[in-house]
Amino acid sequence: MSSSVLSALHEVLGSRGLLAAESVDERYLVDVLGNRGEPPLAVIRPADTRQVSAALAICHAAGRPVITQGGRTGLALGQLPRAGEIVLSTERMNAIEEIDPDAGTATVQAGVVLQALQEKVEPQGLMFPLDLGGRGSCTIGGNIATNAGGNRVVRYGMARELVLGLEAVLADGTVLDGLKPLLKNNTGPDLKQLFIGSEGVLGVVTRAVVRLFPLPADRTVALCAVADFGRVKALLRHARAGLAGDLTAFEVMWDSYYDRAVTLLGRAAPIAPGRAYHVLIEACGTEAAALADKVERMLQGALEQEIVADAVLAKSGAEIAQLWKVRDLAIEASRLLDPIVPFDVSVPIARMEAFVAEVQAATKAVDPRCDLLVFGHLADGNLHLAVHQPPDRPEAFHAIEQAVYGVVGRFRGSVSAEHGIGWLKREYLQHSRSPAEIAVMRTLKTALDPRNILNPHRIFLP
Ligand SMILES: Cc1cc2nc3c(=O)[nH]c(=O)nc-3n(C[C@H](O)[C@H](O)[C@H](O)COP(=O)(O)OP(=O)(O)OC[C@H]3O[C@@H](n4cnc5c(N)ncnc54)[C@H](O)[C@@H]3O)c2cc1C
Repeated sequence: MSSSVLSALHEVLGSRGLLAAESVDERYLVDVLGNRGEPPLAVIRPADTRQVSAALAICHAAGRPVITQGGRTGLALGQLPRAGEIVLSTERMNAIEEIDPDAGTATVQAGVVLQALQEKVEPQGLMFPLDLGGRGSCTIGGNIATNAGGNRVVRYGMARELVLGLEAVLADGTVLDGLKPLLKNNTGPDLKQLFIGSEGVLGVVTRAVVRLFPLPADRTVALCAVADFGRVKALLRHARAGLAGDLTAFEVMWDSYYDRAVTLLGRAAPIAPGRAYHVLIEACGTEAAALADKVERMLQGALEQEIVADAVLAKSGAEIAQLWKVRDLAIEASRLLDPIVPFDVSVPIARMEAFVAEVQAATKAVDPRCDLLVFGHLADGNLHLAVHQPPDRPEAFHAIEQAVYGVVGRFRGSVSAEHGIGWLKREYLQHSRSPAEIAVMRTLKTALDPRNILNPHRIFLP
């Protein structure tokens, strides 16, 4: 049966569009962290929506599972193939089809790399504001499928807020053309929202119209040392009031993270370690001098009111990059605790300090050697945690997950703030979603993909 599927796929995709098992490159098997999937039946590389539609119709008729891949930077193992699946890579669908500076929109194919879009619109004085560490590899289709967040959510929102129109292909090959560049379109349920954040289980995103914003004339970054969590919250209020719409990032690093990141820097730390929290504040504005003035006044006020114990303000692009470098060392800093159990959770800001303390206690109860590292997009209520798993106790991985997600559930948080459920967190979906919600999700899945061929067993346990 698989040979007839492969020959039908070859007919619609041609030799460039179909890589049979023996010629599948290693890169389709591994994610950015080096996690490995299983050998797929084949990799298909459609060139356009028409080919996606024809290929899915063939797979649907044959009941052959398909796993969609963008840049493979996803952190929930959702994109890695399982034995016998067909990988659908969007890598050839990488055209930026149109930029409309008047409307502030770009029409892109799903396989466009995030950084390529950012760099393409910049010379026109425009910005695509979604930004995250995987920018050099992740794709717009992957960003939409995972409803990616990242560094500027506090100002521009997540991917969901940045998509105006969407084209998606359903499991049976039906093309849903919702590629309208309209901000206002109240004509019944907004179907595009079904595909944003649904991690490819309801359809393959093929094209999108995304929002662009004026490129800020200037960007300023400050790093602040703060003594306790009450002052971190006070600093957020103070920065919001002082910078208003110019505040684009408010990233908080617990000392467990900061101390390790500055060790990795290999040069003098911007602020010496030794304080409980370090906060990276970014502001962007349309008028350079006014922005610098605003940020300096905000910082001055924070120092005078003793909200902040110490602060440095970047004076050049190079200094801005150096300050961001501390925060961008997240993966490397986490690896210092290897092997780790990683977490990407949301909790209300008001309860964050108590949450971290409970997580600490719960993981130490699993094993007193469970060291913890914490950082995150605090203004969005999003924390990333890495918990050391004692290497002589492999079973502790699961116990640590259960302990942390148990605390997340008690704090009415989310087991995935931005990375998604994928394969990794399926068991814990019920900590964040009620039985009724999960039942509705399954009903949608069955209605749109009755043969369960799209990203099967991702998000939901079998
Ligand atoms: C260093 C680093 C930093 C990161 N920082 C952040 C961050 O701050 N915020 C954040 O949200 N994420 C972050 N991520 C995670 C990751 O970059 C995002 O999840 C990204 O959106 C995934 O895009 P991708 O193209 O790599 O998708 P993939 O990894 O290829 O796929 C991810 C999921 O989306 C599905 N998918 C991909 N393309 C499509 C499509 N066209 N149609 C339907 N389904 C599709 C896949 O099947 C899979 O389930 C980071 C990753 C790294 C490595």
